[in-house]
Parts: sequence; structure tokens; C-alpha cells
Amino acid sequence: MYYGMIKKYDVADGPGVRVSLFVSGCRHLCEGCFNAQTRDFKYGEVYTAEVEQSLIDAMAPDYISGFTFLGGEPMEPENRPFVFSLAKKLRDKYPEKTIWLYSGYTYETDILEWAKTDEVVRNLLPLLDVIVDGEFHIKEKSLMLKFRGSSNQRLIDVKRSLEEGKTVLCDEDNLR
Ligand code: SF4
Repeated sequence: MYYGMIKKYDVADGPGVRVSLFVSGCRHLCEGCFNAQTRDFKYGEVYTAEVEQSLIDAMAPDYISGFTFLGGEPMEPENRPFVFSLAKKLRDKYPEKTIWLYSGYTYETDILEWAKTDEVVRNLLPLLDVIVDGEFHIKEKSLMLKFRGSSNQRLIDVKRSLEEGKTVLCDEDNLR
């Protein structure tokens, strides 16, 4: 896997101060894509074990609320194993911190469907707190939305959704 950017003090992609990883590679073709260069699977730097460890270490300070995966597309098949590996280590080491993942895919019709046959996706989902799903639709763009660009995109509470067997959206007044 390649990655385009790492932010160790990200205040834009989820609540609080977060560590974020912009993975490379994305098959969506959203008009007005904010990060078009990261559609290339070989954009940026090679994601190595050292990079993974530096991300884990960057999460240690108390002021870091959590971690965010974005891109590019973290749910592309090529990227899933790396995303799962890091998410598992973060969950084990920082159980009190949250993990968010941005995906241009749709939770019910894509991600949950893959989980039926793809063990990596099935094991990744319980590690996540929030999935921000859906492609960016420029016609539905709004600057008023919290942590997403267009109104078709949703903040999904993954833990409650899995527990209740239906899609549960986050309480936007109590995001963490
Ligand atoms: S999902 Fe994100 S990175 Fe991919 S084309 Fe859409 S806006 Fe760009």
C-alpha cells in the first residue's frame, strides 16, 4: 500500500485532535474530488512497518482523541489488509480512543455485503467506531455539515449498527 499524507495533529477529520492516514488508491470518480491525486494506487510513499509503528506511537499523547483512515479509499481490496492490521493494533493499544474511517462506498450495499464473504472486512468492522460513507456529490456539497462534504454522506455509528442489525447514525452532538 502507498499513502499520500499523514497528519499527526488533525482537527478536521473527526472530533478532537486525531492522527490520520490518507491511503492511496481509489476507484470512485467523484466530481470535485478534494484529493484527486490519491486515486492513483502508487501515489505518495510506500506504507512500511516503520510507518505503521510511527502512527501507533503518534497516538500515545493524552490529547489525541483517535485515529482516522481516509484517502483515497481505505476500503479498496488492495488497502483493506493494511487498514485492518493498523486498526487492530490501535484498538488493542488504545481501547479508549476512537477509530473513524471515510469510505466512498455505501455501508449497507457495499461494505456489509463484502463482510459476508471477506474475512478482513468482517473483522475490521467491529474495530471501527464511525464510518463516514458515500461518494462526494458536488451538487449536495454543504459547508454546514460536520466532518463530511456532501449531504448524502452519513456518520454511521458502527458499534450500534452491528449490535442492532440496522444502520444507526451518530448523535452529532456527542461525537467522539
Ligand atoms: S472517494 Fe474521495 S478520493 Fe475517491 S474520488 Fe471520491 S472524493 Fe476523491
